[in-house]
Amino acid sequence: MSKHIGKIYVISAPSGTGKSTVIAEVLKRSTNSKFSVSATTRAPRPGEKDGTEYVFVSRDTFLDMIEKDQFLEYAEYAGNFYGTPIEPIREWNSQGYDVILDIEVKGFKQVKEKVPEAIAVFLMPPSMEELERRLRSRGTDSEETIQKRLKIAAEELKLSEDYDYVVLNDEVSLAAEKIINIIESERE
Ligand code: ADP
Ligand code: 5GP
Repeated sequence: MSKHIGKIYVISAPSGTGKSTVIAEVLKRSTNSKFSVSATTRAPRPGEKDGTEYVFVSRDTFLDMIEKDQFLEYAEYAGNFYGTPIEPIREWNSQGYDVILDIEVKGFKQVKEKVPEAIAVFLMPPSMEELERRLRSRGTDSEETIQKRLKIAAEELKLSEDYDYVVLNDEVSLAAEKIINIIESERE
């Protein structure tokens, strides 16, 4: 490993845009990057494994983690808590790894305050129609959840200009390549 000090990359996008899909592709191709696994009180979707996509915790455990100051940031989104554990990030960064955070817009604001040098990328869906189609294509969320997420999406899109970069997720491999180019250009 070189003397590179790892950086924090925040990636936000309305739910259904394809963050998880694109980040998985970035991690496959960028061996110097690690994924920050968040804690959440949301129930696992079919196929999600505890400790891989998220650490799934009860509300009490989450509140206890807040109390113990274990989060870099946390936020409530569509009725559930989501938070970024700070310790793994410190560890990876000190080992020279860049760390990618898949977090929503309120969490991004907290990260920017605490770590102003963090680099933020907003992943943009091609259109609201395509976003809705992708949310449905995932086939994991109820109609109520989809409607809630679409409503939040309209608000989130307005905040894209607060990010350092905006990347269109039209095609997964192209979007991943753009993010890898950003990471490489930010590496001194
Ligand atoms: P997010 O993590 O942003 O909520 P996902 O990665 O779960 O979104 O993607 C939502 C759905 O859209 C999935 O079914 C995924 O396969 C699909 N998807 C992601 N990116 C694209 C793309 N560029 N073109 C078409 N479908 C996509
Ligand atoms: P989902 O339930 O679709 O996995 O995630 C819902 C939203 O929560 C997404 O916008 C995702 O980026 C965001 N999210 C996931 N983990 C965190 C986290 O640790 N902190 C914050 N603030 N948002 C998160």
